[in-house]
Amino acid sequence: MTTIQWFPGHMAKARREASEKLNLVDIVIELVDARIPESSRNPMIDEIVQQKPRIIVLNKADLADKQKTQQWVAYYEAQGYQSLAIDAQHSKGLKQLEKECQALMAPYFEKQQAKGVKPRAIRLMILGIPNVGKSTLINRFVGKNQAITGNKPGVTKAQRWLKIGRNFELLDTPGILWPKFEDPDVGKKLALTGAIKDQLLHMDDLALYLIDYLRQYQPNTLVDKFKFTTEQLEQETTVNLLLSITQQMGLKDDFETASQRLVHDFRQQKFGNLTLDVPYVSVNLHE
Ligand code: GDP
Repeated sequence: MTTIQWFPGHMAKARREASEKLNLVDIVIELVDARIPESSRNPMIDEIVQQKPRIIVLNKADLADKQKTQQWVAYYEAQGYQSLAIDAQHSKGLKQLEKECQALMAPYFEKQQAKGVKPRAIRLMILGIPNVGKSTLINRFVGKNQAITGNKPGVTKAQRWLKIGRNFELLDTPGILWPKFEDPDVGKKLALTGAIKDQLLHMDDLALYLIDYLRQYQPNTLVDKFKFTTEQLEQETTVNLLLSITQQMGLKDDFETASQRLVHDFRQQKFGNLTLDVPYVSVNLHE
């Protein structure tokens, strides 16, 4: 768990470092958590990345709701970005990511070739908030063929490049940006998915958020697991539902421990693959 405390000075530094790296690359891989694609984006990402070609990559797709992941990808594509879902942990989707990077650069290389310039390796960097899987992706991307291609001048800190096959060079350190703090719901989603430290929020707040989410989007899970009736789910306060769950767990009124268990169970996928950010638009995928 990364334990960065984000103060304004650190944000300015992170932003500066990201900008320095941006100058060196052709494409930015903006990595987000597929369970919370919007909540795990940096609030200033557009300003920081500007016109640099970018692919929004939804990582940890293995933990997210498949259909919602597709809807999020479609949403970003409708906004004019290239986007895809991957599971870096198990090296899934990496070939597709390479293909999309090549497609993104094809027009540029064609123009260059027309001028007689041979295509060169495509330079990539990975950018995102802590714990979205940046290091995992770098490691899986590079695999055993890791080869450092040497330092390139022009930045204060020397950057090292890792080779991915013959077609790509990847900056060996990702750009780390801060998460969104302002919206309390975003904070809860970041904490539930492990993107920020548990100590920053109360467990019972997280548990209440989770119960509310399930009640709204996946009521059957609560019915199956805790035998609530539809009526209870419609009428009871969330606090009462938590108290009832606490009693069912045999914890009397110790809702703190019950909350911890609920959050732990969510993280262990005991409630299935949940995407906590609900897609903005319902995109019809069959059209
Ligand atoms: P970084 O801070 O962005 O570099 O994140 P890390 O690469 O350190 O990953 C944070 C945590 O997420 C680690 O425990 C990884 O094992 C895990 N992780 C990364 N990618 C995936 C993925 O695609 N699926 C799952 N299930 N876990 C992942």
